[in-house]
Amino acid sequence: MSKHVYSFADGDGQNKKLLGGKGANLCEMTQIGINVPPGFVITTEACLDYLENDGLPDGLMAEVQEQIKQLEKSTGKTFGKGPDPLLVSVRSGSALSMPGMMDTVLNLGLNEETLKGLVEQTGDERFAYDAYRRFIQLFGKVALGIEDEHFDKHFDAIKRRVGVKADVGLEAAHLKEISEKFLDVVRRESGSDFPHDVTQQLQLAVESVFRSWMGKRAVDYRREFHITPDMANGTAVNICTMVFGNMGDDCATGVGFTRNPGTGENEMFGEYLTNAQGEDVVAGIRTPKPLLEMDSEMPKQFKQLVELRNTLETHYKEVQDYEFTIEKGTLYCLQTRNGKMNAAATVKTSVDMYGEKLITRDQALLRVAPDLLEQLLHPRLDPASVVEAVAFGLPASPGAASGKCVFDADLAEKLGNAGEAIILVREETRPEDIHGFFAAQGILTSRGGKTSHAAVVARGMGKPCVAGAEGIVVDVSLRQAHVGDSIIREGDVITLDGATGEVFLGAIPTIPADFSDDLVEMLGWADETADLRVMANADTPDAAKAAREFGAMGIGLCRTERMFNAIDRLPIVIDMILANNESDRKEALDRLLPIQRDDFIALFTEMAPDPVTVRLLDPPMHEFLPTEHDLLEQIKTLNIYRDVVRGRQTALATLDHRVELPDALAELSEEHVNDALTHKERMLRKVRELQEVNPMLGHRGVRLGITYPEIYEMQIRAVLEAAAACAEDGIDAHPEIMVPQVITSQEVRHVKKATAEIVARLEKDSGKKLDFKFGTMIETVRACTRAWHLADDAEFFSFGTNDLTQAVFSFSREDAENKFLPMYNESEILQDNPFEVLDIKGVGKLIKMAVKGGREQREDLKIGICGEQGGHPDSIQFCHDVGLNYVSCSGPRVPVARLAAAQAKLRQK
Ligand code: PEP
Ligand code: MG
Repeated sequence: MSKHVYSFADGDGQNKKLLGGKGANLCEMTQIGINVPPGFVITTEACLDYLENDGLPDGLMAEVQEQIKQLEKSTGKTFGKGPDPLLVSVRSGSALSMPGMMDTVLNLGLNEETLKGLVEQTGDERFAYDAYRRFIQLFGKVALGIEDEHFDKHFDAIKRRVGVKADVGLEAAHLKEISEKFLDVVRRESGSDFPHDVTQQLQLAVESVFRSWMGKRAVDYRREFHITPDMANGTAVNICTMVFGNMGDDCATGVGFTRNPGTGENEMFGEYLTNAQGEDVVAGIRTPKPLLEMDSEMPKQFKQLVELRNTLETHYKEVQDYEFTIEKGTLYCLQTRNGKMNAAATVKTSVDMYGEKLITRDQALLRVAPDLLEQLLHPRLDPASVVEAVAFGLPASPGAASGKCVFDADLAEKLGNAGEAIILVREETRPEDIHGFFAAQGILTSRGGKTSHAAVVARGMGKPCVAGAEGIVVDVSLRQAHVGDSIIREGDVITLDGATGEVFLGAIPTIPADFSDDLVEMLGWADETADLRVMANADTPDAAKAAREFGAMGIGLCRTERMFNAIDRLPIVIDMILANNESDRKEALDRLLPIQRDDFIALFTEMAPDPVTVRLLDPPMHEFLPTEHDLLEQIKTLNIYRDVVRGRQTALATLDHRVELPDALAELSEEHVNDALTHKERMLRKVRELQEVNPMLGHRGVRLGITYPEIYEMQIRAVLEAAAACAEDGIDAHPEIMVPQVITSQEVRHVKKATAEIVARLEKDSGKKLDFKFGTMIETVRACTRAWHLADDAEFFSFGTNDLTQAVFSFSREDAENKFLPMYNESEILQDNPFEVLDIKGVGKLIKMAVKGGREQREDLKIGICGEQGGHPDSIQFCHDVGLNYVSCSGPRVPVARLAAAQAKLRQK
């Protein structure tokens, strides 16, 4: 029989899979000499065994009882008996932290008998009954499934009757009365008496913690954060001797971060409450005091706390989020875990801890999750537009957001999923509100501190949060909140600034965030470390400029069709498409040439001396024309208008032109309307002629370029003439011409030959050599299989994984994402959306094949990726591992990709 239970003194502090993060850390802390109350851990394997067999593994409770005996020995207390009863906490804890997602029971071991012992031992009846009523409620909720509200209503009624707001105002007799009422609630709601046998209590609590692993909250959380079984499987159960922060004024409880998780500043950070239990701090029931105040209130313990903080950081070499309790002057650490911080703080602590020689530069790079950087690119409130705030709370999670107020998580989820911007407004939040967080833009609470549930969860999600805005009185039943004289009703728009804690009425415009010096420094290290270069997908000089600011090392994909769509060019493009013959088409293209050339000059200038990869026209022609439906509508209105014009002419003639008409009306004759009609009808004919059953698999990409050679010729000329013009002006331009949708080497050769002719002409005219590269996209399955041949003519490959993924899956992206992909992802038929995260097993296999083939033919073949997956950290790891030279992604993803590229190198297989 395998061992299921380890004492804190024996468990392997590194084995988080087996003991859970919390359990492993409790073992580790105990073993490095931190004052942790004695306890033991039941393994995650026992949890999996329980869930599989619907019962506790054989011998588990015997092992537990053995450990309880050890606890009795080391504490001198007895479990289930006076005069000095042993009480324990029973907490969940899986390999990955899932704050508040699973169950916890405190004060376990209390019953009629031990309660008496506790009263006698502490001489504090109030304390004992307070512990008792908390235990009955928590145990009732977790182990017996009785909703909080059944208990809360009695508690609130007594508080009202006594006339106190906070529970500290209640006396022993009140708490005794509450305990009796709670025992009645249990009897009524569960159909049997509260269990007074402490071993039964323990067994029921352990089972309920195990079951909470499969509870809805926990399952939703794992799905949202992509926590797979190989990351965390099952929860451990930590059973720990209770220590009390609510035994008097020499007691306290608190939570701390070894550095400020909002700013990264190296300072004591956290909150505490004297004479309180941990749940009071976390649930935000009382607003706690900043840790620094402890220096004057409890100086000796504060000094110990500073020591604890220092020991934790030097040992873990990571910012820690810890919980402590002071019982009658003795400080205990109850848990520690790596601190969740926002992006700015994570980056700052990386740079600082490297500077303090606590970690190496590589470790500093590896400890920042690349996706986190996106938070730094979040907008903040435009200072020019900020009005007076109507309320202030704690700046609990930075960022700014506007949205409609919603007072419960279910409605927030519903409206948020329907695409509305939502601010979830609550008095305080609880773990069961988690689905509302996912759907909301920001979170506002009227109670609780910076370590309240709302604050911690919002920070983890990178969503703005203002917590403890006490000026706001939330009335959920009326679905409104009072702020001074104003009333905010559900649906009213408000704005939050999570960096300042301000709350505003109405929507306030935001401006983009800028890079901190720390981020610039860290990304500089990333660039020095990475092998992959990070390019941007950008089509306009403005986008190129923005990409540069994000640190792009060139443009990996310029989609020229986006240039065609600009308002001043579209009519010319349409003329080109409607042309009935080559010479009319050439005439339109001649008008486009200088415009495109100027575009390229601006792009090359912005990016010099880095390369700009220009993709020749790709989409099917019909995309530049209105739809058949729109054209039919327009023709219908034009016909009506023609009748109006005719009528007007008749009326004018009848009135012998005595009526003065504005010029435009007078000039718009029936002939003009007829011209417009002819144009629209021509377009309609063309649209019908171009119609394809499956246009994305049809006449597009290089197929267009070969059937209408004039189009590619114009584009190639524009690129090369722009390069020549740049060279003339001393600008070091490096254009790359890229052919899309290729399936065969003959296509590449065809376009390359046309290019060579243009080059020869231009070089002859200018007498100067043109510097450029010629390459192809690899975005069809056939291209992957024929890479060896394609590399004969192509100097570079760029994987178009948007199209390649569609081809490999036989999915149309839009249809898949709108119809069945979300369900596929939710039910884990497919783990990820392959249009966001590269499908390494399928598409990746083809990429490997193409890389191998291409490099066999041309050793120095430059290879990159420009599909959307190129900005995703896991995909970037793959790109590094298969030896690509660059990734290209949208501008704002560039910082993420730069860091991911460095991490890929540091983690390379
Ligand atoms: C691709 O297919 O991955 C690509 C970059 O091209 P587009 O998205 O323009 O089809
Ligand atoms: Mg494509």
